Amino acid sequence: MSYRHIKIPESGQKITISDNRLQVPDNPILGFVEGDGIGPDITNASLRVWDAAVEKAYGGKRKVHWAELYLGEKAAGIYDGDYFPAETMDAIRDLIVAIKGPLTTPIGGGFRSLNVSLRQELDLYACVRPVTYTEGVPSPMKHPEDVDVIIFRENTEDVYCGIEFQSGTEENKKLAKFLREEMHVDFFEDAGLGIKPISPFGSRRLIRKAIQYAIDNNRESVTLVHKGNIMKFTEGAFRNWGYELAREEFGDELVSEDDLWSKFDGKMPEGKILIKDRIADITFQLMQLRPAEFDVLATMNLNGDYLSDALAAEVGGMGIAPGANMADHIAVFEATHGTAPKYANQDKVNPSSLMFSGSMMFEYIGWNEVADRISEAFRKTVGAGIVTYDFARQMEGATKVSTSGFADALIERL
Ligand code: NAP
Repeated sequence: MSYRHIKIPESGQKITISDNRLQVPDNPILGFVEGDGIGPDITNASLRVWDAAVEKAYGGKRKVHWAELYLGEKAAGIYDGDYFPAETMDAIRDLIVAIKGPLTTPIGGGFRSLNVSLRQELDLYACVRPVTYTEGVPSPMKHPEDVDVIIFRENTEDVYCGIEFQSGTEENKKLAKFLREEMHVDFFEDAGLGIKPISPFGSRRLIRKAIQYAIDNNRESVTLVHKGNIMKFTEGAFRNWGYELAREEFGDELVSEDDLWSKFDGKMPEGKILIKDRIADITFQLMQLRPAEFDVLATMNLNGDYLSDALAAEVGGMGIAPGANMADHIAVFEATHGTAPKYANQDKVNPSSLMFSGSMMFEYIGWNEVADRISEAFRKTVGAGIVTYDFARQMEGATKVSTSGFADALIERL
């Protein structure tokens, strides 16, 4: 495939798929998108850490060959105002694995979220966000070590589909008339209208991925998070489809909470995983009071968005929370936070969210030694009190360093 502006390094080899698995060469080409705002600062720092960690782990036997891809403001500069060039989508499909910095989205108008477009265009249906505590990281929790969950958030449905009709427009009036006259429902005059599609297909494939992860990684439970008491045919249906799928496809591996009490007297049978559900609002409370009761969480799009930021705050905040957007094979790893425009180009913010998203990427391609080295060096760096401003303001006696300074300190400890 040839590209207008993207340069695929000839020195590397592409990842391929065979037998339904990734085949990763020792010199894979991975895509990266710098991102807007603080994107360049955290990407440059993270690239240095990743390359150094790979070198340390494999002593030159393995090496990543990076291909820069373009989205957002940098893309607009290169592709005549196009923030979302088609060839970037082609390149991600071609390379299979990529990582991106944050991208700007205007609020209340302007172009549609590039992140949402990316997820929909590549059908990256699962947003995967692990939330775990590293000793030494400042936390508002009394027992942050009890927080160890991984969120599987549905990425392609829900109110994020962008099916919205602005108050006062012809489309809005037409839909309002249809709803009032044909569906016999009522609401205030001139209400903006949005549609929340939740399908069995979308729910089942997300929940399947969450359950499979729990099985592959010996986790204890999967919790379906929903607001089905209010939105019965969307959020309630998500829960019901989840239990249905669990019975149909994972009957031997899972035990429901009902069965736990009716058949096993409240004692989990050896080697089984508990499947349960919780209403979204109580989940927020329980994740503060009794986080140890949660393990793998499967959520719809909006609940998952809120929940992942709230839980990230329990273990150090947005500057450290990693994430991935995944289809069956294609995966785009990304920092969970946004572009923090007020800090752009100041070499100030914490690069750890992107850096740990990179760790997830290395685990995804089977290079676990790289992720382990980064985690260990991070523990040592934070343990020595060397942190960026966001941690420094929560810690006494810390040494505050810049984004690039933090990367330097971490590389020294790899
Ligand atoms: P944000 O960029 O995440 O920033 C909110 C606050 O989080 C910052 O002011 C800062 O807090 C803290 N923060 C974020 N990144 C940090 C880092 N690396 N290190 C330390 N602290 C960090 O959220 P926003 O201001 O609501 O959104 C700005 C833009 O980003 C919007 O255009 C939004 O649409 C976009 N966005 C993109 C993505 C994405 O690309 N995936 C995700 C979310 C938002 P303090 O001010 O307390 O220091």
